[in-house]
Amino acid sequence: MRDEVLAFLRQNAGKFVSGQHMSEACKVTRTAIWKHIQNLRKQGYKIESFTKKGYRLLEEPDLLLPAAINKRLETKTFGREYHYFDQLPSSNKELRKLADAGAAEGAVVVTESQVSGHGRLNRGWYSPHAKGLWFSLLLRPSFVPQEAPKCTLMAAVALTKAFHELGLSEAGIKWPNDILVHGRKLVGILTEMNGSMEQIDYIIMGIGINTGSTKDEFPEDIREIATSFAMEGVDVDRCQALALILKHLEDQYQKVLKEGFASTLEEWKKLSVTINQDVEVRAPGNTYEGLALDLDQDGNLLVKTKTGQIERIVAGDVSIRPAKKK
Ligand code: ADP
Repeated sequence: MRDEVLAFLRQNAGKFVSGQHMSEACKVTRTAIWKHIQNLRKQGYKIESFTKKGYRLLEEPDLLLPAAINKRLETKTFGREYHYFDQLPSSNKELRKLADAGAAEGAVVVTESQVSGHGRLNRGWYSPHAKGLWFSLLLRPSFVPQEAPKCTLMAAVALTKAFHELGLSEAGIKWPNDILVHGRKLVGILTEMNGSMEQIDYIIMGIGINTGSTKDEFPEDIREIATSFAMEGVDVDRCQALALILKHLEDQYQKVLKEGFASTLEEWKKLSVTINQDVEVRAPGNTYEGLALDLDQDGNLLVKTKTGQIERIVAGDVSIRPAKKK
């Protein structure tokens, strides 16, 4: 229904369409039409309205439409198979279905909004309409399953490099799966693997990047911890940003396939905001503080505890927070 209203406005772009006309054509009341218009406005459509004249579409939000992305893509495979949605429960779930049906490496699912986007441990991921880049990328690597967790680190490196290029020079990586700006979370990465102990069938990288949300728009529980390009004062064209990010992801992935993870882990350390910081480690039933020393070759975090012991922390069931200031 919302699509029908939008189609009418688009067909008459620049001209007024009366509410009466749309309500008759869509067989709903004029109040229903007005409600759809309100919803479209909330999503970033600029629609003018005048009594007697009706509604006129002035501007559309910069949607991640396939043609707009394709025009800007400079990749060989990443994003060449492009599945686009206005809304999804979760982009990872959708891509999993496509992967099971045989989708090729580099396929992406992009959605303007997610209803039940999630982070690690099933924590929710706030994904409002056209205010971020919410997408999932399919990989079918030949390396062993034990290497899969390193894909998160690889993605974090690629994204951070892309952000620097987009003008967000303060972006840095927090182990293992966040990108922060001034201590606030800009990105979440959720890596999911399908396969056996011996072989990876596929890896799905779910990536959520806040672009347009303002502080007031974030839900209260994350208002003080989240940030966006807009909040950092950097204007991004989402289409351009997505194309650039896919290019960086592809380049970084190719590097890993050719050279292994070692050089990417070195890059990770340079872009990290975790190394050399006092951190609080929250493992199930065990919270302690220490100094984040280094990454090992498997991408695990080495933390020196107060007693001088070195703990090797495996991503997955652990959260890292800055240590409380004394
Ligand atoms: P953690 O930060 O504990 O490693 P995740 O990386 O899985 O957890 O991210 C999920 C958490 O991120 C949520 O519990 C919530 O606090 C926060 N969050 C949810 N949506 C957003 C968002 N759009 N931007 C920033 N942070 C978010």
